[in-house]
Amino acid sequence: MSHFLDRLTYFSQPRDKFADAHGVTTGEDRTWEDTYRNRWAHDKVVRSTHGVNCTGSCSWKIYVKGGIVTWETQQTDYPRTRWDMPNHEPRGCSRGASYSWYLYSANRLKYPMVRARLLEHWRRAREAHDPVDAWSAIVADDATRRDYQSVRGLGGFARSTWDEVNEIIAAANVYTIKTHGPDRIIGFSPIPAMSMVSYAAGSRYMSLIGGVSMSFYDWYCDLPPSSPQVWGEQTDVPESADWYNSNFIIAWGSNVPQTRTPDAHFFTEVRYKGTKTVAITPDYSEVAKLSDLWLHPKQGTDAAVAMAMGHVILKEFYFGGSGKARPPYFDDYARRYTDLPMLVMLKEHRLQTGETVMVPDRYVRASDFSDKLGQSNNPEWKTVAFGETGEVVLPHGAIGFRWGPEGRADGGQWNLDARDARRNGDVKLRLSLLEGNTSEVDSVKVGFPYFGGIPSEHFTNNAQSDVLVRTVPVQRIVLGAEAGRRETLVATVFDLQAAQYGIARGLPGELAAADFDDNTPYTPAWQEQITGVPRDQVIAVARQFAENAEKTEGRSMIIIGAGMNHLSSTLGS
Ligand code: SF4
Repeated sequence: MSHFLDRLTYFSQPRDKFADAHGVTTGEDRTWEDTYRNRWAHDKVVRSTHGVNCTGSCSWKIYVKGGIVTWETQQTDYPRTRWDMPNHEPRGCSRGASYSWYLYSANRLKYPMVRARLLEHWRRAREAHDPVDAWSAIVADDATRRDYQSVRGLGGFARSTWDEVNEIIAAANVYTIKTHGPDRIIGFSPIPAMSMVSYAAGSRYMSLIGGVSMSFYDWYCDLPPSSPQVWGEQTDVPESADWYNSNFIIAWGSNVPQTRTPDAHFFTEVRYKGTKTVAITPDYSEVAKLSDLWLHPKQGTDAAVAMAMGHVILKEFYFGGSGKARPPYFDDYARRYTDLPMLVMLKEHRLQTGETVMVPDRYVRASDFSDKLGQSNNPEWKTVAFGETGEVVLPHGAIGFRWGPEGRADGGQWNLDARDARRNGDVKLRLSLLEGNTSEVDSVKVGFPYFGGIPSEHFTNNAQSDVLVRTVPVQRIVLGAEAGRRETLVATVFDLQAAQYGIARGLPGELAAADFDDNTPYTPAWQEQITGVPRDQVIAVARQFAENAEKTEGRSMIIIGAGMNHLSSTLGS
């Protein structure tokens, strides 16, 4: 209206010119501009982040008016981590920038919703049965169950009440426990740092009913739970900024720009330093377009790519496969920081063919020896190896050194340094029993299970024997005391691993691969049939990855995604 009046009185309005008539003051009504000013007005600014479904934890300025979030901008007060690293800022993404829209969206979930077809079945069944029988009547009847399951993904939710959904969930859990057992129920709860109460409530419930309480890492898929499981530490992986220190990055099933949005810039920035990037992902995802090479194995087969890369690296960098001596950096690292030198017991196993072979059993521990190797604190959690001259040694760093009473004798021996805990002296562990004096070393047939031959509708299998019988160097040692005294065959993890990978070592009947083109598990040619990835690409990436690690002393990195994360969680490795 005021605009209309302004038009009517256009010629009678006062006009002042200024700046040599470059500007003019018209006196028009400008109250309409307040709409925009009010839109951005605020009473206060608070700091927050977006905790639901995101662990980016970007710092945001939230502008609040009358208790309502009006808008948000990225905070810019992150400290600089190091002079030669790019800034972390700006941290944030378009999802976060529009987050207040979610808060007040009409689509925001405010009430419990249930698939309408299921709700109809449930309410009908409840009229005739108690809760558990009502659930049983639905899921035990094939037609009824299919009726609601077949429309999953099509929407169609109806509003329910908290009492009703609690009853459905409880009835379903009781039914599942009675019918299939409690461990068929799997649950996630939020990360403790997000909400201790939610985390505790969910994980406590799962624990009390005997269900499987999954790690929240599985839920959001960006950290391997096996890290804390195996090493007892929260996280042994670097933060995203450390990508900038790498010279060769493999993004393996991790779509960095989408799942690590605020830190993805480190991935792109490091390429300006010449870092090579390889994406291993079945789909042409965002990370694939940021990479120099894209390997796209068929879905679910990337473990075969990994095995073939391991074959190439072991053969060429540990066993002189291309006339190359083992790099001292690799040799020292493997002895000092891995379990490769540790001793594993072997036990007899009878195959379906009637043949008897040995199979790996478990680590040899300090507690297996007559005097527990002098260890009173956690001897059953301390692994052993052979030293350079063939003596049994107890290297620092096993998890048994980690815990115990204050002031214990083995305090401070948790670090992975090359020292023997018993003699408290430097030690060089034997990686292989074939090193040094081999007068007590024998070789036996060891069976390794083979899963690559299982037919799948999703990819081509590679049929081989279900058990790969390969040759492993072994030695006999004495364990236990007097009445319990026994001899056992042991092998190092390194020798077992080399055998499993099919590395030729000149041992009798070792079933090793003649070359990379040999269709023997786990060569590059073998994986090609399963994954569809050309063997030349696997060989080139494995070589370059290891060469770079050798030259830079470890600046080769793999960013793992959900698939590998779940695999490593499953294996606990
Ligand atoms: S990545 Fe996006 S959604 Fe996640 S915390 Fe950062 S801004 Fe928020």
